[in-house]
Amino acid sequence: MKICRFISEVTDQPTFGVVSNDTVFALRDDQVFSNDLTPPRGAESVSFKGLRLLPPITPSKIVCVGRNYREHAEELGNPMPAEPLLFMKAPSAMIGDGEAIGLPSISQRVEHEGELAVVIGRTCRRVSDADNPLGYVLGYTCLNDVTARDLQKKDVQFTRAKSFDTFCPVGPVIETELDPLDAQVETRVNGEVRQRGRTSVMAFPVPYLIRYVSHIMTLLPGDVISTGTPAGVGPLADGDLCEVEVEGVGTLRNPVRAA
Ligand code: ZN
Repeated sequence: MKICRFISEVTDQPTFGVVSNDTVFALRDDQVFSNDLTPPRGAESVSFKGLRLLPPITPSKIVCVGRNYREHAEELGNPMPAEPLLFMKAPSAMIGDGEAIGLPSISQRVEHEGELAVVIGRTCRRVSDADNPLGYVLGYTCLNDVTARDLQKKDVQFTRAKSFDTFCPVGPVIETELDPLDAQVETRVNGEVRQRGRTSVMAFPVPYLIRYVSHIMTLLPGDVISTGTPAGVGPLADGDLCEVEVEGVGTLRNPVRAA
């Protein structure tokens, strides 16, 4: 099933919807995290085509993983970490499909990082070895971990470089049925393929990451883990169109503008 968020024409409020063919049916707020994706009787329905989408989730935190693909670590001249390298992105950086990535004038080099993102479905704390981490997942989406590379190199840590407003495009939808262990992640700029990798070559696959993060911090429904980017990161310029496609999820499209 595919889940999206949009502004309801009935309530004028952000609303979860389930996508069925080309129609979106509005869900009640309590449905998504109780695993009930059946539209209520008489649910508002709108056409998916042309619908202005919001980021499909409102996380309390976005936990990101650096250097999870060997070829990407090598292209930036970094060694592979022995444990997952975690950092965070501000949830306020999130934008939806179609919204513009703004290039802050303080950075001379803003780069795309197309990634598979995991959306947590239920509270997840210290997942045991016997427990299946994927059982805590609501679904999967595309995330562009936009990065001011020059500021990332200059600063001791990543907060500024990763958290400018608009630096976290997410969507277009959450797919609940994906196999995260083998999906293609592709990033295109103006139609040209810049990054292409399969999640099967991650150093730390999705179940490992969920268990690992859950032993550090409690993951809440809606929280996001972005799983790292394949090789091929590169600069974005005013006027570009950046697309991140995760096989089985869809394509996240964002224009780029000088901010
Ligand atoms: Zn990243």
